[in-house]
Amino acid sequence: MAKNKVGRKENFNITWDDLKDGEKRTIPNPTCTFDDAFQCYPEVMENIKKAGFQKPTPIQSQAWPIVLQGIDLIGVAQTGTGKTLCYLMPGFIHLDLQPTLKGQRNRPGMLVLTPTRELALQVEGECCKYSYKGLRSVCVYGGGNRDEQIEELRKGVDIIIATPGRLNDLQMNNFVNLKNITYLVLDEADKMLDMGFEPQIMKILLDVRPDRQTVMTSATWPHSVHRLAQSYLKEPMIVYVGTLDLVAVSSVKQNIIVTTEEEKWSHMHTFLQNMSSTDKVIVFVSRKAVADHLSSDLILGNISIESLHGDREQRDREKALENFKTGKVRILIATDLASRGLDVHDVTHVYNFDFPRNIEEYVHRIGRTGRAGRTGVSITTLTRNDWRVASELINILERANQSIPEELVSMAERFKAHQQKREMERKMERPQGRPKKFH
Ligand code: AMP
Repeated sequence: MAKNKVGRKENFNITWDDLKDGEKRTIPNPTCTFDDAFQCYPEVMENIKKAGFQKPTPIQSQAWPIVLQGIDLIGVAQTGTGKTLCYLMPGFIHLDLQPTLKGQRNRPGMLVLTPTRELALQVEGECCKYSYKGLRSVCVYGGGNRDEQIEELRKGVDIIIATPGRLNDLQMNNFVNLKNITYLVLDEADKMLDMGFEPQIMKILLDVRPDRQTVMTSATWPHSVHRLAQSYLKEPMIVYVGTLDLVAVSSVKQNIIVTTEEEKWSHMHTFLQNMSSTDKVIVFVSRKAVADHLSSDLILGNISIESLHGDREQRDREKALENFKTGKVRILIATDLASRGLDVHDVTHVYNFDFPRNIEEYVHRIGRTGRAGRTGVSITTLTRNDWRVASELINILERANQSIPEELVSMAERFKAHQQKREMERKMERPQGRPKKFH
């Protein structure tokens, strides 16, 4: 899904994508120094200097230029990457530039929702540490003294940092008015969903202006977070630090088979025939036609399967998934489209019959196994048609300490040599231009 700019990826290990439909925008260049981002805001620079930071962290370098342009952002990054300042600094500037802010301090302009009281307090700590132009922040969270929090809100507030349950309670009882929020942060969105806060978030956001700017952070990028982003962010850009869902990758033993298009079939037959009675596998294919072909081939061979792809009726898809979940059927053939949000906890194997469109999808697919503390196994067949992905795949395998087949290394080398040759040819052609053809 994500597109990489080589420089970004090599220097910062960042991948990014524009999630806007239609024509994609150019992603702003990363800010390599604090000056690049904040030279027009001396107070921000002073605070950074006081903190003694040397340079922006990778996520900051790519997030700041996006958020400062007013674009919605999803940052996929863990705690410890500097993600809090990614949204706080631009948030301060955003608030300071709002014409309606002054004199309306009973109506906050920035809201940060966090899953836990600990994180809320930590964010408030950062807010105070880098306090900007006297903006006042208040932290409200469940378990804290409600009356004191109400009193703090009464004194006037520019920034609310809150856990969803308590804020929803104060909102319903008219202790806080969220109608002027123009800058919203959903921090650690994956955790908020895991903790079941979605209904409260929904209610809170009913009061927040739809034309606000929104920043969301999440340590992982599962379907549920994807869905949340689709509902609450407008044409966002997404920035990932590191590889997606590496936790899942490290719990999966990844096997790679370099083969030919013809032999792919026999490799898979052998695998399916040798499955034990407790194994459960998802076989990923690239297209619906392949799914259908494979399904009928296996049914003819008396192998019980289910299939999931976009052309099947919703009812059939639900039934197929149900049969797979309960274990009535232990082989599921799926396309990537249908596999989104597939959460079956006891999948033992992922079989990539076709390699996916890109490496992120590969990581996503193999994360369907090895879940919730279990280990899993993935098998991926690659043919010479897949040589473009070989070097990225080697990267993933290296990071997860997996063995790398010789054939994959030579595939990557061949592709690199091929690219260099084409680049040379292009260079040779450029100065002279193409010779004119006479027919
Ligand atoms: P966070 O990921 O937001 O929880 O931040 C983790 C820690 O990194 C916090 O203590 C920040 O103060 C610190 N930090 C934030 N930005 C930088 C930076 N550019 N250089 C060094 N440390 C930073």
